[in-house]
Amino acid sequence: MNKNFEVVIGLEVHVQLNTKTKIFCSCPTSFGDEPNKNTCPVCLGLPGALPVMNKEAVKKAVMLAKAIKAKINKFSTFERKNYFYPDLPKGYQISQFVVPIIEHGEIILDSGKKIGITRAHLEEDAGKNIHDGEISKVDLNRAGTPLLEIVSEPDMRSSDEAIEYLKKLHAIVKYLGISDANMQEGSFRCDANVSIRPRGQKEYGTRVELKNINSFRFIKQAIEYEVERQIEAWEEGEYETEVVQETRLFDSKTGETRSMRGKEESADYRYFPEPDLLPLEVPDEFFDIEIPELPNQKKDRYINEFKLKEYDAGVLTAEPELAAFFELMIKFGVEPQLANRWLAIELLGRLNKAGISIENSPVNAKKLALIAIREKEAVISAAGGKKVLDLLMQEDIEVDAAIEKLGLKQVSDESAIEKIVDEVLGANEDKVAEYKAGKEKLFGFFVGQVMKASRGKANPQIVNKILRSKLG
Ligand SMILES: [Zn+2]
Repeated sequence: MNKNFEVVIGLEVHVQLNTKTKIFCSCPTSFGDEPNKNTCPVCLGLPGALPVMNKEAVKKAVMLAKAIKAKINKFSTFERKNYFYPDLPKGYQISQFVVPIIEHGEIILDSGKKIGITRAHLEEDAGKNIHDGEISKVDLNRAGTPLLEIVSEPDMRSSDEAIEYLKKLHAIVKYLGISDANMQEGSFRCDANVSIRPRGQKEYGTRVELKNINSFRFIKQAIEYEVERQIEAWEEGEYETEVVQETRLFDSKTGETRSMRGKEESADYRYFPEPDLLPLEVPDEFFDIEIPELPNQKKDRYINEFKLKEYDAGVLTAEPELAAFFELMIKFGVEPQLANRWLAIELLGRLNKAGISIENSPVNAKKLALIAIREKEAVISAAGGKKVLDLLMQEDIEVDAAIEKLGLKQVSDESAIEKIVDEVLGANEDKVAEYKAGKEKLFGFFVGQVMKASRGKANPQIVNKILRSKLG
């Protein structure tokens, strides 16, 4: 990153709320149905159809407000945002412009830096255009799905901060259970506003909007490409002509951004009050809604209660599914440190490599807990446990059956091990003499010989103990 410039990033995130029905009608919001199956006069925008506000969507918005310590407006307003697009049958989108339901929130990064959230408002999603060769088709199943648009302050100064903010917001939304936040399916979408300015300059530079990028990795790439492009333009004296207020698309194949269209200002949309909806009044009881434990609270609890390192606690609490898996292992009697090692390092390592999410892990918490317990009981070694896990990743088999099948059961029977130790010492009398004369590093040789003689199955702690007592 060029030291002479400061990067300024603000993010707009669209979260699809997982209500059963759409925001202004009772059509289902399910994903992947036959095109245009989930439609009615309201979401088709037929004349005379009237919208009715979905209370669940309001409740979910309020839950987010609590999680980001935001102000909940008792009254907010709906406006029509006018634009023409084939997937928007009414020719306008019902959104909140003048008074949003939520204002002035924050998300705290690990560094302690506060990222301000300007506002979050409720609105309806548009349908989808499907381009099929020469023909374009419109699917309106998504039209009217409730969205919460969360707008940050331009507080982020690097792509890393932007990604951290997004991941934290993503985790909060998932912990609250207000959205499935699936980025591939578009239920958590991000637009990034990126500009640069010479260090020390107060005024912001020209803002470029990067639209609808559907993975954390691509968002990071897109921001970094855009920052480089803007700095290069500045240094070559082409900033005024090359960096203009516009919307750019990110091409994940080339890693570049390219111009899509000029950026609209709010005046272009001709917002006006939605005549078919009264101002939204948040019911009093919603102000007292209890929300579940949030990722940062859970992380602090893991550090205090389970004595986990901050980094480990951060990994385990990044996704609610991962935290739930970990807590189940604890419930099955595994010590926190051991559970962390088996889950965060061994299982996650294997899942990441195979491109499988924790929800779809072929090894469940009960099985992974049993591997950890068998290691703790010294039935198997740590290395043996890894082999068991490898097998469980491939086959639907019980842990004990896998230990049996792989022949990994450790010998912990002291008399059996003692017998092997005696054989090894008897066969290496010269080395024993050398050891007793002071060549202490031979100890490792004896351990190795005993392990070899037991074909790796002797419990190493017991081997050590017996060797020490025999060799004096
Ligand atoms: Zn409908």
